[in-house]
Amino acid sequence: MSGSYTYRIGNGFDIHPLADGDGITLGGVLIPFHKRLVGHSDADVLVHAIMDALLGAAGLPDIGVLFPNTDPKYKGASSMHLLEEVMRSIEGAGFTVENLDTVLLAEAPKISPFRDLMKEQISQKLKIKSDAVGIKATTMEKLGSIGRGEGIAASATVLLKKAI
Ligand code: MG
Repeated sequence: MSGSYTYRIGNGFDIHPLADGDGITLGGVLIPFHKRLVGHSDADVLVHAIMDALLGAAGLPDIGVLFPNTDPKYKGASSMHLLEEVMRSIEGAGFTVENLDTVLLAEAPKISPFRDLMKEQISQKLKIKSDAVGIKATTMEKLGSIGRGEGIAASATVLLKKAI
C-alpha cells in the first residue's frame, strides 16, 4: 500500500468582451474568427479560469494578484506562458494535478473542431493525460450579453493531489 494523499478542489471563472478582430486564443489555440477577445494579456479566458482554479485549490493568491493588469510586463502576455508560471507555484506547494474539467460559454465560434488540440496543449502544461482534461462548450441560447455575442466566459474545476 502506497502513502496517503490529500486532495484539494478548486474552481475558477473568467469573462472577456469581444471586439472586431481576426481571431481569438482559447486554451492556447488560435481560432480564426471575425472578432478578438479584449484584455490586457492575450485574453485567453479559458486559461485564465484554469489558472484561478489551480491557484484556488492550492490556497495561493489569484491571477489578479499574481499578474496584475496594471503591470506593463503582462501586456499581450501569452496565457499559456502564465500557466507555466502557475504550475511552478502549484508544484512548489507540493501538488500535482489529478484532473481538470471546464465549460466555455460562447455563442460563437464553434469550439468542437479545436477541442482536441486545446486538450493536448493544456494537458501538457498540467502534466496530465489529455483524457484528464474536459472541455465542454455551450451557447447561452441567445440570452444575455454572452448570448448576444458580446463576450466569452469560461469556468474551470480542478482537483489537486498532494502526498501527506
Ligand atoms: Mg481574464
